[in-house]
Amino acid sequence: MRVPPGVSAADFSAAVKEFEAAIGKEWVFTSDEDIDTYRDAYSPVWHDEEEPIPSGAVAPDGVEQIQAILKIANRYKIPLWTVSTGKNLGYGGAAPLLSGSMVLDLKRMNRVLEVNDKNHYALVEPGVSYFDLYRYIHERNLRVWIDPPDPGWGSPVGNSLERGGGRTPMREHFAAVCGMEVVLANGEVVRTGMGALPGSKTWQQFKYGFGPYLDGMFSQSNLGVVTKMGIWLLPEPEAYLSGTVMVPKHDDLIPMIEIFANLVASGTVQATTQVTSPLAYVPADPELTALRASGSTKGLEEYGAKKNIAYWSVPLPFYGPAKVIAAQWEWVKEKFSVIQGVRFEEGPSYRFPLSPEEVAKIADPVPFGIPSLQMFGVIGRNATGHLGFSPIIPMTGEAVLESQQVFEKVYRDLGSPGGAAASFPVFWYFGRAFVNIYLFPIVRDVEKNRQTRAVYRRLIRDCAERGWGEYRTHTTFMGDIAATYSYNNHALLRLHETIKDALDPNGILSPGKNGVWPKSMRKAKA
Ligand SMILES: Cc1cc2nc3c(=O)[nH]c(=O)nc-3n(C[C@H](O)[C@H](O)[C@H](O)COP(=O)(O)OP(=O)(O)OC[C@H]3O[C@@H](n4cnc5c(N)ncnc54)[C@H](O)[C@@H]3O)c2cc1C
Repeated sequence: MRVPPGVSAADFSAAVKEFEAAIGKEWVFTSDEDIDTYRDAYSPVWHDEEEPIPSGAVAPDGVEQIQAILKIANRYKIPLWTVSTGKNLGYGGAAPLLSGSMVLDLKRMNRVLEVNDKNHYALVEPGVSYFDLYRYIHERNLRVWIDPPDPGWGSPVGNSLERGGGRTPMREHFAAVCGMEVVLANGEVVRTGMGALPGSKTWQQFKYGFGPYLDGMFSQSNLGVVTKMGIWLLPEPEAYLSGTVMVPKHDDLIPMIEIFANLVASGTVQATTQVTSPLAYVPADPELTALRASGSTKGLEEYGAKKNIAYWSVPLPFYGPAKVIAAQWEWVKEKFSVIQGVRFEEGPSYRFPLSPEEVAKIADPVPFGIPSLQMFGVIGRNATGHLGFSPIIPMTGEAVLESQQVFEKVYRDLGSPGGAAASFPVFWYFGRAFVNIYLFPIVRDVEKNRQTRAVYRRLIRDCAERGWGEYRTHTTFMGDIAATYSYNNHALLRLHETIKDALDPNGILSPGKNGVWPKSMRKAKA
């Protein structure tokens, strides 16, 4: 039997018996077979001595059972790693950061408590998946959309707490959270925002309540167990249209992004998109391969002109009343027309609701609020999995070009042929910045994964030196990234630690999450 660090085998056995008495024997898992299902299938430390393996898992069915578990864990000092649906692949899956933690698995708490299609929100428990919520809405014919991330088997609660992203105008998931219920480490149940007002009628309609706004404290954190969450939904739009803006020259990127940034900030462009170079997606052509290897932007421009391929492009999706989005697209075209040689291409357009036949014809339904797993067929086919590296970079052409150079170097360091000039898309999901999402392949080869980790760590430092920080990361690198947010001698981390020590003095909730360790473990981890 595996035991949590610092806990004797006798104490762990006694704790397991108490967990079984509190929530039922069938919901406490300690066999190797069961534990295996909580390992991270995409782990960059797979089978390495560093791989964190849980000592077991507990799966409560409600708040009272969570409170009972916390009481026992506090008494025996057993670390618990909370997951909602535990599908955080690319960032740690369901596995804890600290080996020997027990997974607090909330997937049995899977009730959709409310969907309101007049004020456009849902109130859900952590085990509700995007598929569950979609089905609930669909079966009742409610005219609201969810905003799933690419894999729909995860949960609105887990994904939003990780500050994940989707593709509709509700793309920034933590920004769509409105009101939470949280169980603190001492078992106290807190409702945030308007939820603190008994009988409140607006818990899911107004985020802030009265006094300090604390919801952010429970995201990417180890300060509580979120048991209910309000999420804003998108009223079903009347229509969708998309158009692509394409520019011919390397340096056109600068004005193109300046215009894009203005359209974002003024609310004209509202849904997730990416800036790419179509030249990177041309099927193998020896002439192009040679040009890319030479790094000649002039040569690439000429190649593009000859083959009618843009140097840069940005697809723009619009959602809303048909008349309004048609006018938005016209306005966008007018704005970009100042770039010489710009071209526009109309993409698909739809009226909602879609019929089942229309849905069946759409290869990727996620931008239409329909959860799917199709992305697993698109990325990671040549590897066991991937590791996301995602620095937030400024929304400027200069920063995008600089990021191309940074990733180009990584490409070479990982043994790829290189010459990938302009082949790394930058995405717009969050705020007024871009995010690069570079996917490192993860394989079942301890040595290769060690090399990947070394490159990843170097990249964290390289990006930090440029003023770029990551918005989210795999458990393996949480400490490294937290260490880069070091302004004023790590004042922010010290504040996080102060709050951690006050709320969770025994350090039982997700030790090490996002670099925050409880006092008892801090020295050892430093
Ligand atoms: C092919 C592929 C594509 C992907 N595309 C996207 C994408 O488009 N957008 C995106 O955002 N992600 C994406 N991901 C990453 C990931 O799969 C999703 O973010 C997924 O939704 C996260 O898993 P989950 O919802 O089950 O969260 P969980 O694994 O349940 O939770 C994630 C973390 O949040 C914390 N947490 C969870 N629940 C609680 C709680 N109740 N209380 C306190 N803390 C809690 C824990 O630290 C936990 O580890 C992708 C991954 C893959 C493999």
